Amino acid sequence: MSFRIGHGFDAHRLEAGEGVTLGGVLIPCEYRAIAHSDGDVLIHALCDALLGACALGDIGRFFPDTDDRFKGIDSRELLRDVTRRVHQSGYVPGNVDLTLVAQTPKVAPYVDLMRTRLASDLGVLPAVVNVKATTTEGMGYLGRKEGVAAHAVVLLAVATRSVASG
Ligand code: MG
Repeated sequence: MSFRIGHGFDAHRLEAGEGVTLGGVLIPCEYRAIAHSDGDVLIHALCDALLGACALGDIGRFFPDTDDRFKGIDSRELLRDVTRRVHQSGYVPGNVDLTLVAQTPKVAPYVDLMRTRLASDLGVLPAVVNVKATTTEGMGYLGRKEGVAAHAVVLLAVATRSVASG
């Protein structure tokens, strides 16, 4: 098959802190994510979408939150590892569409830096990585700033040259 589609979702609780990491960028604010890793919901949703497209399960299968090796880990390391697994499966990312659902923090000033960093980890151009954000207009756990969540959709294409070593 020439193309594979994948979807991912993640959410993390927030507590008082000095910043939330989203899309590989630490965004200063009055909260931080409660997580085993750095709690980057955008990258976690993206990893699940990539693994889903390859029928490789989910992020918890490769990076269990019971394993101290992944305590506090920079989620970009997880993304680079997952990208290698995508390549080993014979695919490359075609395009990526990410949706952050959060009342806080406001991410608009950071979106282009996120796209640049995610594209670098994915081995693609920033032009095929989209990051958008929405609030829930105050509704629910996200609206009450109890947490942040993210959805990811990816399309993979068959690699036309070997990238498995990358
Ligand atoms: Mg997570």
